[in-house]
Amino acid sequence: MLNAKLASLSSPDQQTIVNLSPQVAIGGQQIIVIAGPCTVESQAQMELVATKLQAAPVQAIRGGVYKPRTSPYAFQGMGNEGLEILDRVRSTYETPVVTEVMAISQIEAIAAHADMLQVGSRNMQNFDLLKELGQVNKPILLKRGLAATLEEFVMAAEYILSHGNSQVVLCERGIRSFDSYTRNVLDLGGVVVLKQLTHLPVIVDPSHATGKRELVAPLAKAAIACGADGLIIECHPIPEESVSDARQALSLEAMVQLVHELQPVATAVGRTMAKVSKQPELVAA
Ligand code: PEP
Ligand code: MN
Repeated sequence: MLNAKLASLSSPDQQTIVNLSPQVAIGGQQIIVIAGPCTVESQAQMELVATKLQAAPVQAIRGGVYKPRTSPYAFQGMGNEGLEILDRVRSTYETPVVTEVMAISQIEAIAAHADMLQVGSRNMQNFDLLKELGQVNKPILLKRGLAATLEEFVMAAEYILSHGNSQVVLCERGIRSFDSYTRNVLDLGGVVVLKQLTHLPVIVDPSHATGKRELVAPLAKAAIACGADGLIIECHPIPEESVSDARQALSLEAMVQLVHELQPVATAVGRTMAKVSKQPELVAA
């Protein structure tokens, strides 16, 4: 297939490990989970999320502060104020945080506060953004475009790699199809292909793939069973009240339970769930 000089797997044991922190590595034997709300809404919301999820444990917290919304009239995210909330959560709970970058002008501020910069589906082929992210000294979570082929996806990663940043994680989050029952179609075959074609870690987002909370856990398990290196999942203290993507948000309790249910699936495919949970005194409280 591809003319992906840097992203292609060149030997069977080649595997990139992307470090979110000294404790959190993506692409190794351990499965990692990134979880949190679609959108950062308040300090209190993010503290609840971080406190509960450390017990799961999850290895990183997500939350959008610049949101790509279909309607220009919908809430666009808290912007800089949201970044400051993420930063406080990051230092108080000693957890890596992941958030989306939509524009070149946002890179500097986000890179200063977050441990991983997410490129959303709608920007997968924003080549100028990708080139600029190639010069950032932070890991990039590259989500597959809404209707991107696997080749286009890998070549988008190649843009980042070829501009100097080797820390790229691919994320399958479902692709558009004809059925509206699910929000998208989760391409698990694509996950297997990506694992065979590239040495980059591959994670799965069953939340945006399905759009319905009751479909998230089964597909999260399927993703681990077919070789994904991790998951990114949306959850919220009061899911129905999420300002965005409420229908797909898990409760924090369901999120914790899902992490536990993933363990036997990981074992079945020779992996383990990462156990890093900082500050056990907070977990016990
Ligand atoms: C998100 O993760 O918040 C998001 C908007 O996802 P995607 O780009 O996959 O739609
Ligand atoms: Mn969302």
